[in-house]
Formats: sequence, C-alpha cells, structure tokens
Amino acid sequence: MPGRIIVLPETLTNRIAAGEVVDRPASIVKELLENALDAGATEIAVDLEKGGCESIRVTDNGEGIAREDVPLAFARYATSKIGAFEDIYRVHSFGFRGEALPSIASISRIEMVTRQASSPAGTRVIIEGGEVKELTDAGCPVGTSLLVSRIFEPVPVRRKFLKRDMTEQGYCLDVITRLALMQPAVKIRVSAGAKPILNIPAVQDPAERIALTLGQDFRRQLIPVAGEISGVRLEGFASRPEFTRSSAAQMYLYVNGRFVKDYLLNHAVMTAYRRLIEARRYPAVILGLEIAPGDVDVNVHPAKMEVRFRNPREIYSLIAETLGGAIGAGLTPQAGVSAMSSSAGPAGTVSRIEEALRRYRVSAGSEKLVFGGLSSRKSEAPALPPLLPPEFVNETERPDERGRFSDLLYIGQTAGTYLIFSGDAGITLVDQHAAHERVLFEKLRRQAQGEKAVGQRLLLPEVVSLPPRDYHFLMESLPILEEAGVEVEPFGGDSIVIKAIPALLSHAEARALILDLIADCAQASRDLPLDERREKIFTSLACRGAVKANRDLTGPEVTGLCRDLDAIPHALTCPHGRPLAVSLSLYELEKMFKRR
Ligand code: ADP
Ligand code: MG
Repeated sequence: MPGRIIVLPETLTNRIAAGEVVDRPASIVKELLENALDAGATEIAVDLEKGGCESIRVTDNGEGIAREDVPLAFARYATSKIGAFEDIYRVHSFGFRGEALPSIASISRIEMVTRQASSPAGTRVIIEGGEVKELTDAGCPVGTSLLVSRIFEPVPVRRKFLKRDMTEQGYCLDVITRLALMQPAVKIRVSAGAKPILNIPAVQDPAERIALTLGQDFRRQLIPVAGEISGVRLEGFASRPEFTRSSAAQMYLYVNGRFVKDYLLNHAVMTAYRRLIEARRYPAVILGLEIAPGDVDVNVHPAKMEVRFRNPREIYSLIAETLGGAIGAGLTPQAGVSAMSSSAGPAGTVSRIEEALRRYRVSAGSEKLVFGGLSSRKSEAPALPPLLPPEFVNETERPDERGRFSDLLYIGQTAGTYLIFSGDAGITLVDQHAAHERVLFEKLRRQAQGEKAVGQRLLLPEVVSLPPRDYHFLMESLPILEEAGVEVEPFGGDSIVIKAIPALLSHAEARALILDLIADCAQASRDLPLDERREKIFTSLACRGAVKANRDLTGPEVTGLCRDLDAIPHALTCPHGRPLAVSLSLYELEKMFKRR
C-alpha cells in the first residue's frame, strides 16, 4: 500500500458513513419517517416498490423546508435540530446528527418536493451522486415528499446483501410498525407496488393504536403497565403470560419515544415473566420509558438503536418490578387459574402463577400498585446481567429432561385421540393430533429453511375464486407458500389455480387446504411481519394436514410419530401452544394408590 495520507473527499466519506446508517431499505424508511415526525407531520404516506429495494417514497404534511435550506439538508452534519453539543442531551427530536439525508443521497438518487406554509411556491430538488442536479420551483402541498430510487447503485456489494423483496418489505413494515405504535395521533398509510397494504388511522387511545397495528387479538391480551421511580416513568402494555411468542419480536421497548434494542431492558422484562412462561417463549410488550434527556445517552449508536443510561440499575428495577406487579394484578387468582386450567395449561403453570401472586401484592381499590415485600426483596433484586451481545434472547437452553418417545412401550389408544405409553419413569399420554401437527410444522419449517422444492403436483389443478381481500392475501403470501411447497398462481380475475401442495400433506384435499389456510390466516396475519406470517401459515398447514382426533393409528404410524417427535428438540407443545404430551410419574402413581 502506498503510504501517503490523504483527506478523503466528502462524497466518499458520506458513502462510508452511509454504511453505518443505511444498511438496507428499511433503514432509509426509518430515517425518512423520523424526519417526517420531527417535522410535526400528522399524516405520512410510504410507498415501497419491490419491498423498498427499487424505490421508497415518504410523503408528509409536516412543516416543510425553506428554499434556501434545501441544499443544506443534504450537506453532512447539517441539521436544524441542535446548535451546540450539549443540545443532544436536551433534544426531543428523533434526529440531530444531520447525517441521514447526505448518507442516503450518497448511495441513491433523491427527488424531493417541499413547501412551507408561509411560502406560496414549493421547491423541487434532484440529488444525484450526492450533488444537487436541479433546484426549481414546484407547485406542491405544504409538507415534504422524498422519492429515493436507484438505491445502493453506487455500492453494488450492499445490494448483494439484500434479501428477497418480500423480506426487505417485511423489514420496512417492522420499522413502520415500531414508529406507529408510539405515535397514535399520526395517520400512516403504506402501499407496496401501488397497492395499499397498511392503513392506520389516527386515534386518541394508545391501546386502540396497538390493536389497529398488531391486531385485535393482541388487544385482549394486554395488561396496562404504569410506574415511576425518581422521575423516570414507565408506561405501556404487557401481554398476559398465557399469550407467549416463539421469538422476542413482539417486545417493543422505547426510550423517550425512540425504539431501542437494549439488552438491559429486555432482560428486565424477561425477569418479570421468568416464572410465568416456558423457557424460550417470550411475552409481547409495548413499553415506553420517559427519562430526563440528560440521564440517557442516545448518541452511542449511529442508528440510535442502543442507548446508555446513567442509572441502569434503577431502570432495571423499575421495569422488573412495575411489570411484575402489573402482571400479578392482571392475574386475579380465580381468573388466572381457571383460565389456565380450562385451556389445560402445562402442569406447573398454576403453581407458578400462585407463586407470582405471592410475590406481588396489589393494594385493593387503589390505583397505585404496591409491591409486596419490595424492601425485603431488595436483597434478591436481580444483579445486573453480564453484558452479553443482544442475541441474549437465546437464553441458555434448559437441559432436555424428557426421555425419548421411541424408548417408550406403546400400550394403545384411548378416546380415539390419546396414545398411551409406558416407560421406566411412569406413563405418558400423547395427543396424536397435537403431536402430529408439531411434527409437520417442524418439517415444513426445516424444508423452508433448506429451500428444497417439496411440492406435490396435482394431477388436476384446482381453480378457486376468492373475495379480493383473500386473493391479495394469497398473492402477498406466495413466497411463503412456495417455501412450503404450495404452488398457487393467479388465474384471471379473482381466481387462482392451485398447482401443487406440500408433499408432506399430499393426502389432504388441495382446495380445502387453501381455503382453510385463508380462513385461519388472512384476517390475522395480513399486516404481520413476514416471519410471523410464515409461522401462522405453517401452523395452519400443519394443523390441516395432521391426523385428526378419532382416528385409529397403526403400529408403524405410532412408531414413525415417536421417531419424528424425538427429532424435535423441546417438543412440548403443538404450534398453537397446547401441550402435546403429559406424563404421570411412578411417584405420582404410587401417591394416587396411597403407596406413599
Ligand atoms: P437530522 O434529522 O439528524 O437533523 P437529516 O439528515 O435527517 O438530519 O435531515 C437534515 C435536516 O433536513 C433536518 O434537520 C431538517 O431540518 C430537514 N428535514 C429533513 N427531512 C425533513 C422533512 N420531512 N420535513 C421537514 N424538514 C426536513
Ligand atoms: Mg433525520
């Protein structure tokens, strides 16, 4: 390497900076949305082409930018939000680094129109290669509209790292969802390829916004959370412990309105739920912390996703205790226990709830939560966790104490539904439908990850006509269906043709399979991020393909099922979360027969 040191030109430094801020279309969406919110917008429209990989347009009705400031907005470190360094500890805006627009401009083409209310004419600007190419008058409404296209053209490597359009679109929708949850008063409309895909009206009530954004099912599961310790406020909603997720994706945490991914905060949430939910399941929470801007440093991460607190322990206890109290209050003994037992919750859940109730007492009739034994529990207050990378969510797995199903002796079936096994440790009952469902679900998932074609072609393709909503749902879900081995194509008008179904489910009737899938998923999963939509679709397929209750299983079928179950680590529940096997230990049997 030649040894001369040079100062890099700005076009290049911008592009390097873009590496930190703009790593995929979703980050562009995030920055543009934040700018719109900072500009006081009450209505925002986002248009994505090819999942945001082709172009992104964000239009807002915010305050707009003055003509003379327009070129400045695209200059590095140019911001209207701070004037002195200390200001960054006072800002209430999302942005302040003045980096987003120049970074985005350095890796794409930008066309912007903007107008302030005080100005009769708007401004149109085109930026290419980071430079202003055109600056003219334009008639436009008050506000700003930015069209970003030719994304990552100057950095082809980055394009290679992008996933499929549908996946990138999912990331964009995640970003939009996160902001939407905290901004109930802002109307947000999203379209993809000119088709509307999300329309969230402005509402007063944050719970209503959650329901509109994440689904009405969600709303019924929410427990309100509110608490305060020395000037730090925590407010939001948390799911009942029965409503768990297989990933931490539905843990939405905000600091001063800013969505953050923070190990400490997540850990505090998990602590509140620790004894209430199974290992490797996660709650859904939407929690906002309000902290004096001076007590939290948001300037430690270019995308500002991580933050640093002045008093981390205090924040930790605030979350763990407030949340724990709220969950305890949400589970009145009768309601909690009967809800659990009626859904045949896994053994031990009831006692865990009782234990939680003992830990958290709520003073009757008062709005304010009182933590039972708070001071005496101080000594066992969780020590700060070691600082692991954010992948903490894969908490250390519990050793699998369950033996292998294949080692058990099959005795027979009862009620046409439950398989009875005997083993050294006692007897085990398996719900044949739940177990088979879980097996199919895992197989579908594994095949999807391996991206093997697993479809079984139909001899006679089935044509089905659908209402428009269902039609669009199916079209939007094509990549997921394809992963599972379902081949569906548009067939003119509102009709589709089913050409293949998963080989695993080849015994199922194609038409019924697809119609059931729509019934199971279309409503609930339309606006879900891709991963969850996939989980829903696979769950439905597995459920429809699994052996029904009231069917006799042959010996080889039972053996096969056991072998398949053994291949799944932690196969304790069906994909819906119901237990698939229960055991009675010898000790329990002996107790029942009064031998102990
Ligand atoms: P930052 O948000 O950190 O200030 P940006 O590069 O994102 O930096 O934006 C630079 C400036 O351009 C902002 O400070 C703001 O004054 C202006 N700006 C950007 N987007 C908008 C918008 N949608 N409406 C009004 N002003 C905007
Ligand atoms: Mg900004």
